[in-house]
Amino acid sequence: MPASTIERSPTSGGGMSETGSDIRVCQRCGIRYSWRRSSSSWLKMTYCGFMCEIAANGCTIDELLKRERSATKEDQKSSA
Ligand SMILES: [Zn+2]
Repeated sequence: MPASTIERSPTSGGGMSETGSDIRVCQRCGIRYSWRRSSSSWLKMTYCGFMCEIAANGCTIDELLKRERSATKEDQKSSA
């Protein structure tokens, strides 16, 4: 079983209950931003944008997922 199965589940009911507040503080640069307007589709709840995403992770989550998928695919192909 591939342990690296990341599903696309945006905001799947967490413990965060900041109803009515769109303002988040970027974990990377510390600025306040409205996550609804964030350009990041994945880490908009954490970072203000893809620039901080890249700065923090080395790349965007989309890039990571692409690598993950292709790696998993090749892994399955070679191991099976
Ligand atoms: Zn930032």
